[in-house]
This record gives sequence, C-alpha cells and structure tokens, in this order.
Amino acid sequence: MPSQEIVLGPRYAVKLFQLTGADVLVMQCVTCDRVYRVYPQQLHVRHSCFTRLDHIEQDFRCKAPGCTSRTCTWHIEQIVRDGDPVPRFKVVQED
Ligand SMILES: [Zn+2]
Repeated sequence: MPSQEIVLGPRYAVKLFQLTGADVLVMQCVTCDRVYRVYPQQLHVRHSCFTRLDHIEQDFRCKAPGCTSRTCTWHIEQIVRDGDPVPRFKVVQED
C-alpha cells in the first residue's frame, strides 16, 4: 500500500498512542539495510500506549540471517489513498 513519510513531532517526544491505524513505523537496519514495516497494532501487544518511539527503537533486533545488528533508523509513514493521505481522526469528547 502506498505511503508517505510524516512527522508527528520531535523524535524523542512521539508516543505510541499518536500512531493511528493509517500509520506504519518503518525501521531500517543500519548494517544490512533490511527494512521492517511495523504496524501500531503489533506494537501495542508489547508496549504501553505511552511508550516513546525512541524507546521502542532500543528493542530493535535485526532478524536478517547472519545480521546481529541492534541499531536502526526509523521514521513514520502514513498510508496514501488516491494520492491523498488517509485523514487522521481526532477523538472528540462529547458532553
Ligand atoms: Zn540487519
């Protein structure tokens, strides 16, 4: 599915709950360049919604055969439909 890079804030401040179902965390191993696309639903299984994404980065382990890297780069991408980003929904509390 096509996607484009987005910035939700400073890297040290973005938390898991800020990702929507239309987002994907793209991690790339710095040693072998293998790319991992991790969806928020997968992250919620192991992490609290208040976990900062830079902390999740520290749990990274490349699974490529023969690669023992624990270092990656990462960014967030948002799914694009018909050339436009899928709208981000805001939760609004009603009275
Ligand atoms: Zn690797």
